[in-house]
Amino acid sequence: MTHVFHRNPRSKLPMAVAGEGMELIDQDGKRYIDASGGAAVSCLGHGHPRVIEAIRKQVGELAYAHTSFFTTAPAEELAAMLADAAPGSLNHVYFLSGGSEAVEAALKLARQYYVEVGQPQRRHIIARRQSYHGNTLGALAIGGNAWRREMFMPMLIEAHHVSPCYAYRNRADGESDVQYVQRLADELEQKILSLGADQVIAFVAETVVGATAGAVPPVGDYFRKIRAVCDKYGVLLILDEVMSGMGRTGYLFACEEDGVVPDIVVIAKGLGAGYQPIGAMICSDHIYDAVLRGSGFFQHGHTYIGHATACAAAVAVQKTIQEERLLENVRQRGEQLRSELRQAFGDQAHVGDIRGRGLFVGVELVAERSSKLPLSPDLRTHARVKAEAMKRGLLVYPMGGTIDGKNGDHILLAPPFIASSNDISEIVQRLSDAV
Ligand code: PMP
Repeated sequence: MTHVFHRNPRSKLPMAVAGEGMELIDQDGKRYIDASGGAAVSCLGHGHPRVIEAIRKQVGELAYAHTSFFTTAPAEELAAMLADAAPGSLNHVYFLSGGSEAVEAALKLARQYYVEVGQPQRRHIIARRQSYHGNTLGALAIGGNAWRREMFMPMLIEAHHVSPCYAYRNRADGESDVQYVQRLADELEQKILSLGADQVIAFVAETVVGATAGAVPPVGDYFRKIRAVCDKYGVLLILDEVMSGMGRTGYLFACEEDGVVPDIVVIAKGLGAGYQPIGAMICSDHIYDAVLRGSGFFQHGHTYIGHATACAAAVAVQKTIQEERLLENVRQRGEQLRSELRQAFGDQAHVGDIRGRGLFVGVELVAERSSKLPLSPDLRTHARVKAEAMKRGLLVYPMGGTIDGKNGDHILLAPPFIASSNDISEIVQRLSDAV
């Protein structure tokens, strides 16, 4: 009998006992290349001496102090680093313990903002189909996959969904980038108007769609167009960069590449790089100022916010990324990964699309390339690819339900930023054997 109640108590998992660089090692000594960084978490790989040393030092001096009594040096240092690096006036950092918590905090802050500025009638949130924002009740309500919500209806938040920017699946034949993006912006505008021009709090989107659809990047100036629609109706733009942020795409904030500044950005995963659980919500000046002018404080809080050890680990992660110029490596190795995948799968009929940004790459599997028809969900192809890859000592993050929550399979790759050229080639070799 097992007492650990993880996800599926019936699945028999190997026991991980150690991690070294790109690899995890199980109790039998078998080594696995961690080509998904868990779920796009372990951006510096495993056993990184600098991060371990920072944690050791911080725990020795001060592991934790509650934020109702103290601030701490690592929390201040990390907040300053993130505020400096974040685009526009995203200057105010609120720490949390993970992605879902950060999304919840963003939703509450957006709501509080509109109460503070005298528009409490705004109550709707718009998000996108094919999205994942977390498993707490608020995050679940806005996430795109209806099947995740079904058992827990009714939801506590009223959320509405529009189409994602997912060119491979949703762009019409002959439609240009410009036309496609305009159609999506029009759809958002219509949705806002149908709910009432002054009734919507925020639009929430993953900058690059992660787990649900497999590293789907936006097309052209999608986010600039979306920003303009939001501005027209006073709808706040919240970007969820829990997966795509913190360097994963080759930019510290994925939205930098799109030339758009959200009102709130949410990060986690790569922030603590798996060494400590930490997330953050970063808001812009006008939101922060409105809260200060209004009730004076954000009505939120958790026991572990600003945890000193977690912040110290994240500071070490940030310094490593900067000093080792890892974002450059992410961009170069990302190009290499996509190009080698295209070569390896060039004549593989079941690989329909290869996409992504930086070391955030998705491979979409199909029954047949020309029709793009999905494989039958009964085949559970994603689960079989994962199992075959594990047999070959490779960890990838495949998922089913890519297209509509039920149909479609993809494989998500998110290797650590320290990957060498040989590591990338080895990942592609093992993955093509598995597929
Ligand atoms: N948002 C996105 C985009 C995510 O990918 C995830 C996690 N997969 C979350 C939110 C939730 O984060 P967590 O699992 O840390 O609660």
